[in-house]
Amino acid sequence: MTLTVTRVTHACVLLDFGGQRLLTDPWFSERRGYYRGEPLAFPPGALPELAGVLVSHGHYDHFDLAAFAAYPDHAVPFVVKRGLAAQVRAAGFANVTEVDPWEQADLGGLQVTAAPARHSVPEVSFVIEGDGQAAFFGGDTLRITELDEVAARFGRIDLALLPVNGLAIRPAFNRQVVMTAEEAAELAGVLRPRVAVPIHYAYTAGRLRDRLLLRYDGTPERFAAALRAAAPTTQARILEPGEPLTVNGTATRQPPPLPRR
Ligand SMILES: [Zn+2]
Repeated sequence: MTLTVTRVTHACVLLDFGGQRLLTDPWFSERRGYYRGEPLAFPPGALPELAGVLVSHGHYDHFDLAAFAAYPDHAVPFVVKRGLAAQVRAAGFANVTEVDPWEQADLGGLQVTAAPARHSVPEVSFVIEGDGQAAFFGGDTLRITELDEVAARFGRIDLALLPVNGLAIRPAFNRQVVMTAEEAAELAGVLRPRVAVPIHYAYTAGRLRDRLLLRYDGTPERFAAALRAAAPTTQARILEPGEPLTVNGTATRQPPPLPRR
């Protein structure tokens, strides 16, 4: 009954359900316009043995197959948003399942369910169940009301990984494409996980591109502050890349904070 979460970087996260491990949204290399803004915990060749890889959508900072090809086991199963399988196969990984919301896949005894998401390209989020624990992975979706259905269908969520940088595209009239820190906290109030870990916040496109193309509206600290009001029974944990957190039994449960005057 243990779940250990380790951020690799950005939205690339290692989830260990009692020894069965999944990797989300692989991103291991930088290129022009895509900088992590934080360390990379492991290169792909140093990852532990994986029961599977989940991919929410096809953006490079979530779907870096060229770098992930250094992972030695090319039989590792992928579960990806519908439409991405051909690219996975072209990168040399033959075992791939495409999903849309509420479709399911089994990865070494872990039950993976795709959930809704909305972004600038087609995307799914995921719920993963295994070893008596359930985790929600939010990719880099907007806060859409369809996500309330996750709480209705799954009841208990132990861990939620929520994007918080509120990314918006300047040349598209500042169109928002990722939920803000406060919207992520509000979603946590609906999902009511025991622990919420913010993801997707240190990334930068570089100084010039940030000024011309992108706008950010959210930090992990703002998420933790908003969570205290929006989801007082949920514990916020800001994790450095490579810093593992174990969510099990009551070990990470803490009483709600005292009301402030
Ligand atoms: Zn994206």
